[in-house]
Amino acid sequence: MSAATSCPACAGAALEPVWHVASVPVHSCLMVESEAEARAFPRGTLELVFCRSCGFLFNAAFDPTVQRYSPAYEETQAFSPRFLAFLAELCEDQARKYELSGRLALEIGCGKGEFLAALVERTGCRGIGIDPGFRPERLTTAAASRLTFVRDLYGPAWRHLAPDYLACRHTLEHVGPVAAFVRTVRETLGDRPDTVVMFELPDLRRILLEQAFWDLYYEHASYFGAGSLARLFRRERFAVHALWRCYDDQYLVLEARPAAAPTEPGSPLEDDLAETTALVAAFRTGIAAKIAAWRARLDTWRREGRRVAIWGSGSKAVAFLVVLGLGEEIVAVVDVNPHKHGRYLAGTGHRIHGPDELRAIRPDIVLVMNPIYLEEIRRALAARDLAPALEPVR
Ligand SMILES: [Zn+2]
Repeated sequence: MSAATSCPACAGAALEPVWHVASVPVHSCLMVESEAEARAFPRGTLELVFCRSCGFLFNAAFDPTVQRYSPAYEETQAFSPRFLAFLAELCEDQARKYELSGRLALEIGCGKGEFLAALVERTGCRGIGIDPGFRPERLTTAAASRLTFVRDLYGPAWRHLAPDYLACRHTLEHVGPVAAFVRTVRETLGDRPDTVVMFELPDLRRILLEQAFWDLYYEHASYFGAGSLARLFRRERFAVHALWRCYDDQYLVLEARPAAAPTEPGSPLEDDLAETTALVAAFRTGIAAKIAAWRARLDTWRREGRRVAIWGSGSKAVAFLVVLGLGEEIVAVVDVNPHKHGRYLAGTGHRIHGPDELRAIRPDIVLVMNPIYLEEIRRALAARDLAPALEPVR
């Protein structure tokens, strides 16, 4: 049982343990230059705990002091055409909904700045992006004169910025004290009720439905479903006016404006506490069998002498390999991001290959860590005269 006594989202005490993994790398997207360094990568504990009061799932053993977000952090998915199309759709959606011309957009955790730059180009707004992993040399944009980037973690020091629009994508799940974080965001907005915030993050519901143990890892301290996310924002004095799933139901988007006091539920998606509680119970009883089934498949392929590669070298791959204890059984880990090629996977020590290298490696089976990229990967392989069996991980 974990040492946590209260929920970081709602402060409730009705907590129950869900899943424990003793030793996982504390980062999965930090680039590592050698196999030895990758194998010796600092490790931590995954101690997932569920709050029955608000439906939030979190790592009770999370320690932010071991994290080192820096320019060596390689999280971007922007080398994938499918992901770029999604980014463009989201930017277009926001530009249509909100009049941003001449206004100030702030993005917390902007990564390499792709979304903010697209928004500034599309709407004519100004943009400030905050992220310790920002790399100025990687961003080419016609709107550079209206963009400012700050290499820092967001916190109270940045509360004085008075944005008209605030985006925070795939960042809140990296935060341990989530209520304190959302409170700081609310304080940043002060009493300017027209400001819009847009948060995007992985949806816990899909992870639980698939019992996707490869989506549970140290970098993600916090896991929200639609209900727990909306409840947190409503408690912290936001009026939630939009809540939706996207990217094949992998992601959740919440849009809200500041309110004077806590607000009441409005979207049917928020009424998910009973479903989430049942899914957590099913995960707890089913996860061992899920892991055993994957081990059995991999054992069969090894006995048959089939060469198995993994496409995708992000957090999903690290979690999948670590939980299954896979080493040389995987002949190659492939990624389309050229900045990762020749680097090593934290924790497992696998070298990251570019797709061209598969011509020599000739895998029989390619595991697709995110099935949304299946067709894109099939085309990339076909372009190299390769036709291995593609196995979506689910
Ligand atoms: Zn809670």
